[in-house]
Amino acid sequence: MRIDILTLFPEMCEGVLGESIIGRARQERAVEINCVQIRDYSTDKHKRVDDTPYGGGTGMVMQVQPIYDCYTDLCNKLGTKPHLIFMSPQGKVLTQQRVKELSEMENIAILCGHYEGVDERVIEEIVDEEISIGDYVLTGGELPALVLADSISRMLPGVLANESAFSEESHYSSLLEYPQYTRPYEWHGKAVPDILLSGHHANIEKWRRQQSLERTYLRRPDMLSKAELGKKDIEFLRELKKQAKEK
Ligand code: SAM
Repeated sequence: MRIDILTLFPEMCEGVLGESIIGRARQERAVEINCVQIRDYSTDKHKRVDDTPYGGGTGMVMQVQPIYDCYTDLCNKLGTKPHLIFMSPQGKVLTQQRVKELSEMENIAILCGHYEGVDERVIEEIVDEEISIGDYVLTGGELPALVLADSISRMLPGVLANESAFSEESHYSSLLEYPQYTRPYEWHGKAVPDILLSGHHANIEKWRRQQSLERTYLRRPDMLSKAELGKKDIEFLRELKKQAKEK
């Protein structure tokens, strides 16, 4: 898969994307991520990319010309139109399900807004989808684009050690993950649950499943309606609810 991030701050994105798991995945070509400088496409002699908003008001608005030319150049280079996502607090809030769907695409481009945002006409003309990373406002689309690129990349084959690294994680199956522990065995008087040292894989699996169900029930009960639950899960949750009522 190839992801192109269209931004006024490519160095900011490169700094993050060159590190750790994603940095390694890029080197090993499990994912191709490019950061494209929108300003390079400005036809203004001072390389301006923004102007004051019509109708007045504070801040600046990103102009159509550099964005449109940057996007069409990318389409020409790719020989196809990538799925163009505009990071925006007005978009649909990102979910693990959408991340999974996006990870199955060949070419994605991510447009980062800045200042007061982007001239609406270029959004109408080229953007396929608007995605928000939550109901709050950031100064620019770079951090949201990095969140999106990271979440998509880690679903691709060869990026994580194996599929269970993400399939057991929070949100993948509409459940929160069970708690994790590592050495030392005891810390500040708290010991690791004995079951995890038992070596009994079936019992460990059962304990983890129940922890996962309990956490989701206590912290995010809204998620349970979307989770795939077996008979034993339903019985366990029924018992949890009964105990909660008795308290
Ligand atoms: N004036 C815009 C509004 O009220 O909808 C907000 C502009 S914001 C200051 C600048 C840019 O940051 C946006 O164009 C978008 O690209 C990005 N951004 C800010 N918050 C975001 C969020 N929650 N999710 C995704 N992108 C966001």
